[in-house]
Amino acid sequence: MTYPWQQLQWHNVQQQLRLGRMPHAILMAGAEGQGKLDFARQLAHSMLCQTSDDQGHACGQCGACQLIAAQTHPDLFMLQAEERGKVIKVDDVRQLSAKLHLTSQYGGYKVAIIVDAHDMNINAANSLLKTLEEPTSDAVLMLVSSSPQKLPITVRSRCQAINFTVPDAQQATSWLQAQDIEQASELLRLAHGAPLLAMELQQSDLLAHHKQLLSALISVAKNQSVVEQAEQLHKLPLSYLLNWLQDWVQDLIKLHLCGNAAILVHAAQQIELNQLVPRSSLAGLYEYLDQLTKNRQLQSIPLNTQLLWEDLLLSWYKVLKRV
Ligand SMILES: [Zn+2]
Repeated sequence: MTYPWQQLQWHNVQQQLRLGRMPHAILMAGAEGQGKLDFARQLAHSMLCQTSDDQGHACGQCGACQLIAAQTHPDLFMLQAEERGKVIKVDDVRQLSAKLHLTSQYGGYKVAIIVDAHDMNINAANSLLKTLEEPTSDAVLMLVSSSPQKLPITVRSRCQAINFTVPDAQQATSWLQAQDIEQASELLRLAHGAPLLAMELQQSDLLAHHKQLLSALISVAKNQSVVEQAEQLHKLPLSYLLNWLQDWVQDLIKLHLCGNAAILVHAAQQIELNQLVPRSSLAGLYEYLDQLTKNRQLQSIPLNTQLLWEDLLLSWYKVLKRV
């Protein structure tokens, strides 16, 4: 089943499917944690299933559905980087394109899903472009991406876009509650409204990592050793921590600008944040935010995370001393 916040996108694409007007390439774009890949899979299943229902959902019973469940359907292809942080290579794209040019084994559609399509390096993207320029009639390519701006415009312009935005807070909260997730509102704030990311936060160690980050920031504010706190943080997943640190600084900026009317990501820590407001200046906070943005852009480059955290925590300490 598709998620409740994807009904409009589902309805529209199903209408195209029913009318036999499926585009040759679709770019499914939007922030992480909303279920774009699940949507792509559901759509692929819907296209391959022999007896889908009136809403277009796959039956789960027919021969095609059984092959899909066993991950052996000969007309469904998935392509993604070997591991997170690696690129999708040109040879893999070439192989995929070759498969899409073969006759469909089941006489229906051939569907390829490219997961995190922005991981394609430039040669891979150029190779894909050739396939997009000379589409085969029954093949549909689905590019899933949370950073579509990283794809060449020549690729993007040849895809029909299906855009996903985070659902409204009420819908997301009720959905999380229906999955037995407690503290749904707080998790959603930390996940910037993305329901699946909120669920992942609770089901993984990420929430504990978030607590460790806040405790390090508060300890440094109380003059405790930067080096010691950096040791606590340097082995934790950097991208999440940098995002939350940025949220933390933005919360402080919001409190400077709007006082208690501010809507905070860290609403549960408003007391601690309020104590830090008189110790920081807006100029200092903006400067620190700049430093964080630069560090987030450098993330893919291997670096010494212990030193990075010492640097970030020392700057944080200075932010609180400069008023
Ligand atoms: Zn089926």
